[in-house]
Amino acid sequence: MKRPSTHDAIVIGGGPAGASAALALARRGWAVAIVEKNVFPRRKVCGEYISASNLALLDRLGIGDAWRAEAGPEIRRVGLFSGDTTIEAPMPGARSGPARDGFGRALGRDILDTLLLDAACSAGAEVFQPCRAVAIERDGDGQAVRIQPTGGKAGDEATILRAPVVVAAHGSWEPGPLPSQLGKVNRHSDLLGFKAHFTNSSLPSDLMPLLTFPGGYGGMVLADHGRMSVSCCIRRDRLARLRGSLAAERGGHVSAAEAVGHHIMATCRGARDALEQARLDGPWLAAGPIRPGIRAGYEKGIFRVGNVAGESHPIIAEGISMALQSGWLLAEELGRVAGGKAGREAAGRRYEAAWRGLFSTRVLAAEAIARMALGPGGAALMEAVVRNFPRTLTLGARLSGKTKTVPGLAVSGLAR
Ligand SMILES: Cc1cc2nc3c(=O)[nH]c(=O)nc-3n(C[C@H](O)[C@H](O)[C@H](O)COP(=O)(O)OP(=O)(O)OC[C@H]3O[C@@H](n4cnc5c(N)ncnc54)[C@H](O)[C@@H]3O)c2cc1C
Repeated sequence: MKRPSTHDAIVIGGGPAGASAALALARRGWAVAIVEKNVFPRRKVCGEYISASNLALLDRLGIGDAWRAEAGPEIRRVGLFSGDTTIEAPMPGARSGPARDGFGRALGRDILDTLLLDAACSAGAEVFQPCRAVAIERDGDGQAVRIQPTGGKAGDEATILRAPVVVAAHGSWEPGPLPSQLGKVNRHSDLLGFKAHFTNSSLPSDLMPLLTFPGGYGGMVLADHGRMSVSCCIRRDRLARLRGSLAAERGGHVSAAEAVGHHIMATCRGARDALEQARLDGPWLAAGPIRPGIRAGYEKGIFRVGNVAGESHPIIAEGISMALQSGWLLAEELGRVAGGKAGREAAGRRYEAAWRGLFSTRVLAAEAIARMALGPGGAALMEAVVRNFPRTLTLGARLSGKTKTVPGLAVSGLAR
């Protein structure tokens, strides 16, 4: 006997991608479930910068005013801190934003993600939190998602949610049992992500520098409430060597975060200067390996948004934009579905094409910039180019999508 659906759509993951998709679907009158494994607010490995090109979308999602009230200062300059070199250039403003929204800003993920999830909940989405999705199975014409309270025991009874549409929005950095989760990797060249907040930094409030250092890259930016976010990626093999040599020097265990912090301070003058008087605010966080690349937007009957659909190297700080915008794009396509499997497959194809049109260039641009930063002699070459032509920083920001808004917002059927 076919069991009735509990929802029209089940969204796995309550980060920016999941919350934006769920909110937009709920506004269309869909019965939406969001499954999020963590309790919010929670901090997250992320630089926390959002381009102004997202402001129209944040307004549509209903959190634009809160974002303007909470986020850090406008970032009007982009920079490069590499070795002893510090270079700056103008940040391009968003092409179609009103003047006051022309520049991006940073907002802690503890605040941003909570605002978004609360907005989705207010729009009518039912939030299962803290609950982990542990299995997705075919269920007649739809899907069944098995969820368990986070931290529960293996024998605990699972809840089964059923819906014709399942949206994977669980990010890409954790392997797991779901068919949409990426397989485990363990390569020397993997990039591991780190992030910490600091207060009392001397970084100019309108500057977001890219940091390059041997084996990795990173960024720093002033976010909300005087917190500066420092985030970076470093190769697994380089990190292991750094930990080993630091442990030998100090005669004891050295954590990965300690080794990363020490390495950045030792090799990047601009970061050292900005952090000289700064105080760590909370612990360093680690994640990864990161999984840059373009993946399927619809596979095995599951729609994918955010990092799981595709991810750019965070060297361009566009992941939140891509997450928010892909969630919105998918909701737009699903809103046109007549129903049934054929309708969903057509929506999946249209969504995938729209995703590629909007994001492929920035994924490829980020790949090229990251390769240069990480390759042998690449950081020195990058430094030489940028020293002679500082505007390549402005061009890089433009190529990475910082001025590109989501098409069709003005004509969308969604009420603000
Ligand atoms: C070092 C670094 C710096 C970065 N800096 C920036 C930046 O400055 N600007 C920017 O735009 N981007 C930046 N990014 C990228 C950005 O963090 C990601 O692209 C973005 O978080 C992706 O959003 P998402 O919603 O797809 O996934 P996530 O933000 O990862 O959200 C996924 C959610 O799903 C939940 N989840 C996972 N598995 C399950 C499950 N089985 N069941 C239920 N819930 C689950 C998780 O708890 C999480 O809340 C950076 C990334 C790194 C590594």
